[in-house]
Amino acid sequence: MTPDPTYDLTTVAVRAGEEARPVGSAPLAEPIYQSTVYAFPDLETLDRAMSGEQPAAFYYRNGTPNAATLERALAALEGTEAALVAASGMAAISAALLGVLKAGDHVVADSRLYGVSYALLAEEFPRLGIEVTFVDACDHTEVEGAFRDTTRVLHVESLTNPLLTVPDVPALAALAHGRDALLSVDNTFASPAMFRPAQHGADLVTHSVSKYLSGHSNAFGGVACGRADLIAAARTRLLRLGGTMSAFDAWMTMQGLKTLGLRMRAHSGNAQAVADVLANHPRVRAVYHPGLSEHPQFHLAMDLFPQGFGGMLSAEIDDAPGFVKAVAGRIPLAPSLADVMTTISWPWGTSHRALPEAERRRLGITPDLLRLSIGIEDIGDLLSDLEHGLES
Ligand code: PLP
Repeated sequence: MTPDPTYDLTTVAVRAGEEARPVGSAPLAEPIYQSTVYAFPDLETLDRAMSGEQPAAFYYRNGTPNAATLERALAALEGTEAALVAASGMAAISAALLGVLKAGDHVVADSRLYGVSYALLAEEFPRLGIEVTFVDACDHTEVEGAFRDTTRVLHVESLTNPLLTVPDVPALAALAHGRDALLSVDNTFASPAMFRPAQHGADLVTHSVSKYLSGHSNAFGGVACGRADLIAAARTRLLRLGGTMSAFDAWMTMQGLKTLGLRMRAHSGNAQAVADVLANHPRVRAVYHPGLSEHPQFHLAMDLFPQGFGGMLSAEIDDAPGFVKAVAGRIPLAPSLADVMTTISWPWGTSHRALPEAERRRLGITPDLLRLSIGIEDIGDLLSDLEHGLES
């Protein structure tokens, strides 16, 4: 816009530069839309935007153009009709589940879940009148036995955090659908590059976006993907609860997303190589990775994940604190995952701290269990760093 030369400089400073998009071309990289509100030419146009008849951004909490771009990208990646991005993975899971649940309903959930997902289901949902039964999702008799007439949702992780068990998503989808319930799958550890739960019958697919989808520990958010009506219901809950994703985080996630396929191939190859080495090291008591033949769901995992399993594995190491100290200058101890850089986490004291101690031990989450998020470094360098830690 060329400001009217008669305007005061204060007016020019506010208006100059806006609407400067050149006609006949557009930016190749999407701009970040940092505006919290949008201007409309008349009441009719505003009304069409508000009613959804003519989709348009109008108010930040209801969604920005950057969030809409990311939603289109993630729905396409997960192969679902729609997607809803949120301020965090927990906001996305909460909105997705609360979109379909009400007081009096019942949920069946795997007891092997990210600790805060477990706490959400075990402590928050009952306060809303929603009952939850935890099961071993790999034991289908137990899953079936937990269903009630009021069960609306079965919730699992496609690769569980932190022990990498592999629930049989197609079988669980059939089981849930046979009881008029929905299957909800947290696909954070796998990413759609390795596994697309909706293609195997899942109704809702969620992610913590700050993990593989963005991939560089610099963007935060969550997403729920699914049928348009399920996502619309989740969106209504999210907008009222206020868990909007920022435009900047959506934009940053779009940058990371472009290399998802390349990154996941590298993560998977490296993690398999590390798992093979750790499994044969005398200081390592147990390795949890679906690509090891001794993994309890090895054959199912090979069927469901033909491209690999991503970069996650866990290992129980003698003197875990000593190992962490020995590799500290090379491999950071950082309570998250999925960066291009290899990191170590300590589920006992971080991601699963919310679980009662007895429950952590029952699941196999001990103080000596370390979760490794294997990055995309050169595998020779990475193995030499790990061996340095193991020989210390
Ligand atoms: N699901 C899994 C498997 C996770 O690992 C996490 C976080 O680490 C979450 C959900 C929660 O995501 P956020 O931290 O973005 O809320």
